[in-house]
Amino acid sequence: MTEIDLEYLKEELLQCRRCGICRNAVYEAKGFDGICPVWKNSSGFETSFMRGKIQVALALLNGELDKTPENAESLFQCTLCGNCTQICAAEFNPAESLEQVRQVLSDIPNEIRDSLTEKILINDNPYSEDNSEKRRWIEELGFSVPKTGKILYYVGCTAGMRLPAAARHTATILKASNVDFAILEDEPCCGSVMIRTGKVDEAKRNAEKVEQSIKESGAEKIIVSCAGCLKTLRKDYPERFDIELPETLHILEYAEELIKTGKLQPKEIENVTVTYHDPCHMGRELGVYDSPREVLKAIPGVELVEMDTIRETAICCGAGGGLRSYDSELSKKIGADRIRSAEDTGASIIATACPFCENNLLSGKKMAESSIGVVDVVDLLAKSLE
Ligand code: SF4
Ligand code: SF4
Repeated sequence: MTEIDLEYLKEELLQCRRCGICRNAVYEAKGFDGICPVWKNSSGFETSFMRGKIQVALALLNGELDKTPENAESLFQCTLCGNCTQICAAEFNPAESLEQVRQVLSDIPNEIRDSLTEKILINDNPYSEDNSEKRRWIEELGFSVPKTGKILYYVGCTAGMRLPAAARHTATILKASNVDFAILEDEPCCGSVMIRTGKVDEAKRNAEKVEQSIKESGAEKIIVSCAGCLKTLRKDYPERFDIELPETLHILEYAEELIKTGKLQPKEIENVTVTYHDPCHMGRELGVYDSPREVLKAIPGVELVEMDTIRETAICCGAGGGLRSYDSELSKKIGADRIRSAEDTGASIIATACPFCENNLLSGKKMAESSIGVVDVVDLLAKSLE
């Protein structure tokens, strides 16, 4: 359901004890270091981390602050990464509550969010491109992909339109495993960014389009290569919209199984040291930490080394929660911070499992003037299948 119980939400926000540990607590044993990536990479003002955002939210909800775009600004300076939720000892989920606040206050104009929403509703993608571009990369595969079938690869807007290598390599992995798969003729955006930025009713319209398209494709299983699509299709659709799709797996969950059963046999690649970045939507939100690591470890020649903050405590890439659109400089700064953490491991490559994270890490690499390689795990796996 898309409705929010306002009184319940306010009670939740009042659970905040104002302890402030979600700002920059460091728990070495747990690998926590500089909890809030926005606080760490921005003004450092009270409203840059969750404690201050909660006070702003309550003031807006209670009518103590005027509902103006300026007063609501800090609510959007957050990647909804969930790191504060991870450390918060109070009986609520601050990141989830903030997402709900954005929904309740969605009538406050926000030029960037509103334009992004309009683009998705008009074009079925946030990039203002003809949606047929999402299938363009298929031409380079050397084999055809049907539009209907029992296993559906739901490509996602960023892989389809910005990082087609991730889409090509996902298709290559499926083909190498002798998996017959289909790709929708006109794939609608999953609507993740609309949910995160409070435009939930609009996201529901897209969700219904996705549900219909998938139904018509005859799919019995869905494979995605984007962590945002994964969380949206697997968790948000049933919980928010009562939409139950066929089983939805990330390509790396699927590939882990294919490797274990011997259907996929990675061959040796040139020796390389790789560190893995956990996408928030896949890790903290869905608990998928092991599959990407197992796939990396199954590639002969890959040595996996870990950053200081990983799994439940991994610092965000900076792109989530609409921040990449809302404040791209801040988003890139956070990306640069993550790149520097990857460099500290001595790895020559940082691999992730989400084109949206990869895209922001690439921007962060540029800002940090780093020479580290930024790839998706599927890029390395596909290379080992050549
Ligand atoms: S959100 Fe949680 S961790 Fe942050 S100040 Fe409030 S009670 Fe403390
Ligand atoms: S969700 Fe992440 S970015 Fe937002 S306030 Fe919490 S720790 Fe900071």
